Amino acid sequence: MAAPEFKVPEFREFPSVPALVPGSMAHSKPYVASEKVQEGIGLPGQLVDNWEAKAIEKFGELLGKYRSLRVFMDSCVHCGACTDKCHYFIGTGDPKNMPVARQELMRSVYRRYFTLPGKLFPKLVGARDMTREVLDEWFSYFWQCSECRRCSVFCPYGIDTAEVTMAARHIMDSIGHGQKYSNEILGKVHKIGNNLGLPGPALENTLEGLEEDVKDDTGVDVKYPLDVQGAEVLLVTPSADFFAEPHIESLIGYGKVFHAAGISWTLSSYASEAGNFGLFNGDYAMMRKVAMRIREQALELGVKRIVVGECGHAWRVAYAFWNTLTGIGNNGTDPFSVELQKQLDPRYKEPSHICEFTWDLIQQGRLKFDKEANDSRIITFHDSCNVARASRMGDRPGGQFDIPRSIIKAVANKYVDMAPDTVREKTFCCGGGGGVLTDDLLELRVKGAFPRMEALKQVQEQHGVNFMATICAICKAQFSKVLPYYGFNMRMVGGVHQLVSTAIRLGDEQ
Ligand code: SF4
Ligand code: SF4
Repeated sequence: MAAPEFKVPEFREFPSVPALVPGSMAHSKPYVASEKVQEGIGLPGQLVDNWEAKAIEKFGELLGKYRSLRVFMDSCVHCGACTDKCHYFIGTGDPKNMPVARQELMRSVYRRYFTLPGKLFPKLVGARDMTREVLDEWFSYFWQCSECRRCSVFCPYGIDTAEVTMAARHIMDSIGHGQKYSNEILGKVHKIGNNLGLPGPALENTLEGLEEDVKDDTGVDVKYPLDVQGAEVLLVTPSADFFAEPHIESLIGYGKVFHAAGISWTLSSYASEAGNFGLFNGDYAMMRKVAMRIREQALELGVKRIVVGECGHAWRVAYAFWNTLTGIGNNGTDPFSVELQKQLDPRYKEPSHICEFTWDLIQQGRLKFDKEANDSRIITFHDSCNVARASRMGDRPGGQFDIPRSIIKAVANKYVDMAPDTVREKTFCCGGGGGVLTDDLLELRVKGAFPRMEALKQVQEQHGVNFMATICAICKAQFSKVLPYYGFNMRMVGGVHQLVSTAIRLGDEQ
C-alpha cells in the first residue's frame, strides 16, 4: 500500500472529544460531475445561468414539499449534544464536521431567504447570501457527511442532518453542480441496470463460474439462477456481490441457503442492483426510477416474494421507500402495484431482508450447520447505519440488531460485541457510506473510519477478534480499503452470509 499523504489518526488510550483543527478538511472535495455524466441522468451539464436564484428556488420547493426540512431548519437550539457524535468530526477535528455546523451551512442561507429577521438584518442573525463561496463550502462539507444519522440519535429534537445533506446535494444537482462518483453510478444503473455497468452476458458468465467454484468446493450442484420465469423468490442484491471480495462470499452463501431449503429463486439481469444512489442525492424521482426496475422484473418474472441481499442503503430504500415510491408493499393504488400485490405471496407483500429470510428458515429447523467450521474465527458485528437507524427487521423492535447477531451465533461458536456506545443504534459509520466511497475522498474515508477502528482494536486486544461481519456492500468495500491503514488485515471483514456459507450443511454433500 502506498504511504498515505495525510496523517492517519492515532488510537487513543481514552476516547475523548478531539482537539479542534479549524479548516483541516476544507480542501476535501470530490470531483465535480462532467457535463456528459450530468446530462446522462437528466441534470444540467454545468452551473446554470443565474444559479444563485435557481438554488434558492429549489430550496424553497424542497421546504414546501418536505415539512421535516423546514422543522429541521427552525428547531435547532444549539444545545451541542450532537457536536462530538459524528465520526468525521472525531476523525478530523474540523469543527465544520460537527453536525450542528454542517446544518448551519444550510441554515444560514435559509435564514437569509426564508425568515423575516434574515431578510431585514442578515448580519445580526448570521444569515448568508447564496454565493460561490457558500456553494464551494456546501460541495466540500455536504460531501463529508455519510448520511449515517448517528447525530440524530443524540439530538433532543431529532434533527436529522442526513436529510439536510440530502436536500443540499439535491439543490446542487439541480443547478448543475453534481458529484462525479454518485452521478456516474446512477447513469450506469439507468443504462445497464447496475452500479458497476455489468451487462447481462457478463453476469451470466460470472454466475456460471460461481456454480463451478461451489461444485469444486463442496461437490454439490448449487445453482445461481438468472432470469428464471416463475421462480418463487426474486433476489436483488448489490452488484458488488457478483464479483468483489469479500462480497461474493455472501452471494455464495445466499445460494447455499436457497439450495439447502429447497426454495426456487432467481436473480435478474434487468434488476441487477439493489443499491440506489438516488437516496444519497436526496432525489426521490431518481430513487423511484432506479427502484422501478425491480417492480418491473418482479411482475415480469411472476415471483412470489422479493428478498434483498446484504446492502445497508438498499435495505433502507426497500424498507422505507419502495412502498410509497413503487407500490412494492401494501397500499399502492396504481394498476401495476395492485397487480403485484395480487401476485405476491400474501405473507410476504413487503420485501424481506436476506437475514430475515435465513433466520426464518433457521427457526423452522430447515437449515443445519457445522458451527465448528467457523471456529478459526472470533467474530464481532458492525451494524451498518442505514440498517441500524433507518429500518427494521422481523416483527420485534430491534430486530435489525438481533437477527444478524442471532444468525452469527447459530453458525459460529465465538462471538463478541464491540463497546455498547459503538453498536446497535449508536453504531459508527464505516466512513464510506452515503456516496463518499470514492478514492478522491480517501483521506475523509480513512479518518472517518477512526471511531470504528478504535472499537475494533479494543475487541481485538481483549478477545482476539479476527473477523468483523457486516451486512452492507459499502461497509465491506470501505473496510477492505481502510483496515490496513490502522494495522488490521483487510481480509478480516466479511458478510454474515459468508459465515453462513462456511457452516451450512447442504444436505447432499459428496
Ligand atoms: S455523517 Fe452522520 S453523524 Fe456526521 S453529520 Fe452526517 S449524518 Fe450526522
Ligand atoms: S443536538 Fe440537535 S438541537 Fe442540539 S445542537 Fe445538535 S442539531 Fe441542534
